[in-house]
This record gives sequence, C-alpha cells and structure tokens, in this order.
Amino acid sequence: MDSYTAQTGETLRSVAYRMRLDIQKLLSLNPHIPNPDTYIAGQTVNLVRMIHIPIAAPQPPETDLKQWIPLTSLEEMSQTEYDVLIVGAGAGGPAVLWRLCQQWGLNGKRIGIVERGDLLIPTHSMNIPTLNASRKRDFYKNISYPLGKSQPEYPGASQVFALGGKTLFWSTASPRMHPADFNEWPISYEELTPYYNIAERVMNISKGYTQDSTITTMMLEILRGSGFPEITELPTAIDLTATKFGQVHSNALFSSIAFLGSALNQRPFDLAVNARAVQILSENGNATGLRVMSPDKKSYVIKAKTIVVSASTWETPRLLLSSGIPGKAIGHYLMNHSKIVATVKIDRSYFPEVLGTLFIWKPRTLIEPYQMILYGPDLERYLWYPVFENKEVLKEFDIGIETLGVVEPQFENYIALNHASVDAYGVPDIQVRFSYSEKDKAIIGKMLQATNHMVASLLGTIGAKNRQPELSFYVPGEDYHEMGSYRMGNDPSTSATNPYGRIHGISNLYVADNSVIPYSGAANPTLTTVALAIRTTDHIIHQLSK
Ligand SMILES: Cc1cc2nc3c(=O)[nH]c(=O)nc-3n(C[C@H](O)[C@H](O)[C@H](O)COP(=O)(O)OP(=O)(O)OC[C@H]3O[C@@H](n4cnc5c(N)ncnc54)[C@H](O)[C@@H]3O)c2cc1C
Repeated sequence: MDSYTAQTGETLRSVAYRMRLDIQKLLSLNPHIPNPDTYIAGQTVNLVRMIHIPIAAPQPPETDLKQWIPLTSLEEMSQTEYDVLIVGAGAGGPAVLWRLCQQWGLNGKRIGIVERGDLLIPTHSMNIPTLNASRKRDFYKNISYPLGKSQPEYPGASQVFALGGKTLFWSTASPRMHPADFNEWPISYEELTPYYNIAERVMNISKGYTQDSTITTMMLEILRGSGFPEITELPTAIDLTATKFGQVHSNALFSSIAFLGSALNQRPFDLAVNARAVQILSENGNATGLRVMSPDKKSYVIKAKTIVVSASTWETPRLLLSSGIPGKAIGHYLMNHSKIVATVKIDRSYFPEVLGTLFIWKPRTLIEPYQMILYGPDLERYLWYPVFENKEVLKEFDIGIETLGVVEPQFENYIALNHASVDAYGVPDIQVRFSYSEKDKAIIGKMLQATNHMVASLLGTIGAKNRQPELSFYVPGEDYHEMGSYRMGNDPSTSATNPYGRIHGISNLYVADNSVIPYSGAANPTLTTVALAIRTTDHIIHQLSK
C-alpha cells in the first residue's frame, strides 16, 4: 500500500498508531499535514517506503520474566543515566511513559520509572472477577493510607502506594473541564483540545457505557424536562470493544496499567517498584538525578538528564520541598471539589423489566459552577457487578446524585513539611491547612439548591412513596480529587511550574500529576491530568531534540 485515504475521525497520529508506523517518519512523508492531531478525513496519507519498517519492540526473553511486568532492580538502574526518569506510577507518570515510548520508538534513548509501592493488582480492581462493588470498597479501605485524624482540616483523603496508584480504583468518570475554567489557566481550552483528543482515544473514553440502557434513557428524559436541559450520558474510560478475532479486551475499566502495557509493546523501559524517591539531586540549578530508597532503607542514586515528578498532589510537593527546591507557591493553592451526595429511593414499577444501568452527567455551565452525576441502580451495586453475580429484581432501588463544586485556589490552603515528624525514610511528614472561602461557600449553597431541585423532580415523578431522601455533605478529601499543590502558571510568585509543567528556574525538572492543575473547575480531574501529562511530554521531546 503506497497511500491511504483517511476515514472520519482519523488524525495522522491515529493512522500511525493503528498501522504501527513511526509518526515522525509519517510526518516527514506528509508535509501537507503539518499537525498530527487535526482530523484529516478524505485526505491522502503517503505511506510509501514505510510499510517495511513497522515499529517492533524486542521483548525481553520470557525466561527472565518473573512477574507480569518486567522489573529492573535499583542496583541496575543506578548504573544507567536516563534521558527521562519518572517518579510515580499513578495517572500522570504512566501517561508520560506511554507518550515517550510511543513517540520515541526504538531510538536508543533510556527511559526509567520508579514507583514507591509494590505490584498490587495487574488491572483495574473492577476488572477482577472476585471483586464486586462492595468488596472493591473493602479492599480499598485495607490497602489505602488515610490522611485521617493527622489532618483534621482535610480528613477524608487517602493515598494508594502501588503500581497504578489510584487508577486501580477510580470510577472512570472522565468529563473534560468546561471552557470557562480555562479563564483561570495559563493555557486555553483550544490549546489543550488536541491532548484531550489523544487522552480520550488512548483511555477509551466515550459515552457508550450506559447509552441506550433503559434507566439512563428514561432518567435523561425526565430530567431534561425538569430544568436540567444539558444532562447527558457521562463519559467514562471503559473499553467497550468485544474480545474477538484474536484481540483480547480484558481490561474493560481503564487503569494506568494499560499505559504501561501499551508502552511496553512499543519499546522497553526500566521500571523499579518498592522504589521510594526521597531526594531530587541538583547542581548549578539543574536536576542531575534522584536518591531512591528500597524498603530495607538502602539508598541508590539514579542519574537522569530530565526528571518528571508524578507522585500525587500530596507527595510531589513533599518530595520537592524536602529536596530544597525553592518556590513561594510550592505546596500552596491546594484544591478539592466540594461534594454533596443525595440518595433517592425510586419505585421500580415505573420501569420495564430490563433496567440496565445509570451513569449520567449534568456539566457545569457559565452560571452554575458545579456538575452533577447520577448513578445506580442501588448506588454502585448495579453500576458495576461481575457477570456471575446474581442480580435480583428490585422493588425499590436507590440512585445517587453527586454534586461537585468549583473550589477556588487560595494561597492559604497548603501542604507544608512538618519537620517535627519524619517517617521511616527520614522524610518529613506533611501538614495540611484547608478551609473553604466565602466564594466556595456561596457555590455550596447553589449546589444544595440544585440537588434539592433534582431530588424533588425525581420524587415527584418516579420516587418511591413515603421515602425520605438522604443528603450528606462530604468532608474535604472524600471526593478523591485533590489538586493544585504544584500548580502551573506564568508568574513564579503564584505558580510552581511554567505552563508546560516545568518547575520555575530549573530547565530539566517537570511535574505531571493532579498537582499541576491550576484551577479546579467542577470536572473529575484525571482526564485533564493525563491530557496535560501528554502535552508536557511532547514539550520534553521537543526540548531534547534541540
Ligand atoms: C475510589 C476512587 C474513585 C475515583 N474516581 C475518579 C473518577 O471517576 N474520575 C476521576 O477523574 N478521578 C477519580 N479518582 C481520582 C483519580 O484516581 C486521581 O485523580 C488520579 O489517580 C491522580 O493521579 P496522580 O498521578 O496525581 O496520583 P496517584 O494516582 O495517587 O499516583 C501517584 C503515584 O506516585 C507514587 N509515589 C508517591 N510518592 C512517591 C515517591 N516518593 N517515589 C516514587 N513513587 C511515589 C504513588 O505510590 C502512586 O503510585 C478516584 C479516586 C479514587 C480513590
């Protein structure tokens, strides 16, 4: 095949990805398509001279493989100088790794990633046949580390130290931020759009999970007629493709283990688990490497030309502050989403026999700085369940209404080091200060009104008789959406990185996780974090190619 006519929805990058061709070579053969991320339906893509050079990553010999993913010891990593070294394998770190591997192919550059936690599970927890929604919750409680009582102003938060981070447990809700949110950002919605497109494609984000399910269709109709005209199916990161013709789609719910798998099939990289980064090493204003410790407290130095820190909103400022990286804004502007959850009892008799599942979303608007997500039936019980779980016919069922509000970035909300208390690795613990501003409280008031309005609309149409709704206001952290403690911006007095995630004043040190988000918006953050991480990676690739 010398050329190919692009189909609807395709970009040069998606053609390269699908045909497993090198994007840089494809770009050079197609000067009429300067941007690899614009849609090119109907255009001719020149492939000549390319079809004989597909990217094929050499796999390590199988006999070396002792785990479900190749691992490298810290001893070995300390003998290599990496072109890019990534800290943390939650959402942000693996997105950077995937993009580097996809763009670089087999170009001889060295990529490493160190993860503090161990191998816990090899896929999203809901892809595991032995877990249902309630067992997943129990499992999460046992393996996560709550900030809890030590942080009375932010008591609901928890951390996951494991390969995959919190993406092993997330609910996959993946809306984009609203264009109005970007008024407070150093980059525009339009600038992030190509990266949203890439992230949505690679994370399998679509509205398909609940589309055409009876309960979703009926609820959309009721609520659109009750003052919620924008309500629609929620975009989720779920692979809906059937396993067929040799291609196995066993990772339905996305976790960043999928990034690692895709990266590994492009080219090899070095991954160490149980590898806690404790210090960024620097010389003359440049990062030179990392000091990493194993659980037996042995210390290793790993050299790197560029470092990307993706250790989470809590651990990224902790690592950089304890490494002495200067910056007035570091740790500050911590945000979450204020959160109200209402539970409404629904009368089953209004619905036909086959109910399906419910996951719908009212996005924020210019005048309503909050979003609402409805889920059910019976909260998460029938939102996710293994095929072999007995699904009884219900007489009544609960649905949840989760309202998430914008929280403004305030200097006074911060994470700082508590030098009076150090952990077993000698790293100071954190202390968190957080309170809602008057503006946040006014938004919470509006959220309450909207929630009550939605509850009344449902009770007046399909609600079970004589049943009271339950309403709870979540404490900070219970939303799992902490952001902003290493925010990006143009002004070093109000931001910790530049608009590409590069730490102010250090040319080879970057941040790519929830902490760089400069303004919370109302949307669940992970899609935005991944889109930003891919954008940061493209910037790094460009810098290193100079
Ligand atoms: C139950 C649940 C449901 C959620 N649902 C949604 C949802 O529907 N939609 C959504 O957008 N978001 C959701 N989230 C939030 C989502 O999981 C996070 O936004 C996302 O995982 C944040 O990515 P991150 O890279 O910033 O941090 P993390 O995922 O926390 O990853 C950080 C990683 O860095 C590692 N690390 C930390 N310190 C070090 C160190 N010093 N050295 C080496 N490694 C280190 C950690 O072990 C961890 O693996 C949910 C979270 C939970 C828990």
